[in-house]
Amino acid sequence: MTAELAGLSALVTGGASGIGLATALLLAERGADVAVLDLDPSGAPAPLRGFTADVSDHDAVHCAVRAAAEALGGIDILVNNAGIGAAGTVEDNPDAQWHRVLDVNVLGVVRTTRSALPYLRASSSAAIVNTCSIAATAGLPQRALYSASKGAVLSLTLAMAADHVREGIRVNCVNPGTVDTPWVGRLLDAAADPAAERAALDARQPTGRLVTAAEVAAAIVYLASPAAGSTTGTALAVDGGMAGLRPRPE
Ligand code: NAD
Repeated sequence: MTAELAGLSALVTGGASGIGLATALLLAERGADVAVLDLDPSGAPAPLRGFTADVSDHDAVHCAVRAAAEALGGIDILVNNAGIGAAGTVEDNPDAQWHRVLDVNVLGVVRTTRSALPYLRASSSAAIVNTCSIAATAGLPQRALYSASKGAVLSLTLAMAADHVREGIRVNCVNPGTVDTPWVGRLLDAAADPAAERAALDARQPTGRLVTAAEVAAAIVYLASPAAGSTTGTALAVDGGMAGLRPRPE
């Protein structure tokens, strides 16, 4: 494995579990010095450096980003990955739940980016990657609030890419499909028959299986790396063909 990211520093939000943890570990494997910012960073093993913050708390985010940048000696790569889910139609969630999910999923990206921008501007290889979702574009049933939040992350990615391109900061996002992470594990555990639900979920994927966290991490690390130096303002689907393919004929 090449140390293509040697000398670069990365900060991954939501980096203590699932996609964020796989991304932080892969960034470190490729040679980057990596910090994770999480509600509970204890799930992130060495050599990852853990910083505690809720991305919905402006002051906590600002302090954690500054502490991470000081520990790392700067920030070249920011992965805005922390996010929470919400099920239901527009009738199902009260305003308070809309505010909470938008606060974490959308404003969380805004806050962390705002605090990291001074460090990114000082980098000669600056990149932001946002974890979006196929929910941003697919019209998923029973996901009104979550889809609205990820639609905003997609739009924000494009706007941020335009705003910061001449500062040498690239901004892209990944659109994962259904990924085998503790998040999906929790949803399956809540089902009446988790094994049957898992088999049905696998069968619904065009590939016949869920996306792995490692596959999403590989896409994020590519977009964050100098190899993607001319790629900005894009969304890379990592969804097993979910968004682009027609259902198989029976
Ligand atoms: P996960 O639950 O395994 O990990 C999420 C991590 O984010 C956890 O470590 C959690 O502590 C942290 N986190 C949650 N809220 C936070 C907050 N307010 N402040 C700081 N940290 C917080 O989830 P995952 O499946 O790895 O999801 C990561 C991202 O990927 C999310 O943005 C999610 O929307 C997105 N995504 C997931 C899937 C999927 O199927 N798993 C699909 C598409 C997009």
